[in-house]
Amino acid sequence: MVITFDKVLRKTKQRERILEVLRGAKSHPTADWIYSQVKSEFPKLSLGTVYRNLRLLKENGEIRELDFGSTFSRFDGVCEDHYHFVCHKCRRVFDIKMPVEANLNKKAEKATHFNVECHRLEFYGLCKGCSK
Ligand SMILES: [Zn+2]
Ligand SMILES: [Zn+2]
Repeated sequence: MVITFDKVLRKTKQRERILEVLRGAKSHPTADWIYSQVKSEFPKLSLGTVYRNLRLLKENGEIRELDFGSTFSRFDGVCEDHYHFVCHKCRRVFDIKMPVEANLNKKAEKATHFNVECHRLEFYGLCKGCSK
């Protein structure tokens, strides 16, 4: 199969747009949501292609995939370590602006003698809107 320059360019544009939409959204959206945002711009785009692009971006370390044990993944355009708050009721995922515990990895290493690379921390409860 011959891949034309046009096709490559279109693919790059799609991926850049997906990254842009994800970075602009503070809501840690699902692939479905991202697809709904960009499909009007790329009529030939499918949900499968969105998933493929997200996987690629994740492999490149440009985005993160959050798996909260639900049936679908959420994606995060913020790559630096940060903590999350997950609302029980509306299922929204918020970034928490507080410093990441650098010592936590070391503590876990001490406790396990394993090689700890990173940690993830999620707080659960009700968000402001839902606790009213
Ligand atoms: Zn809520
Ligand atoms: Zn986040």
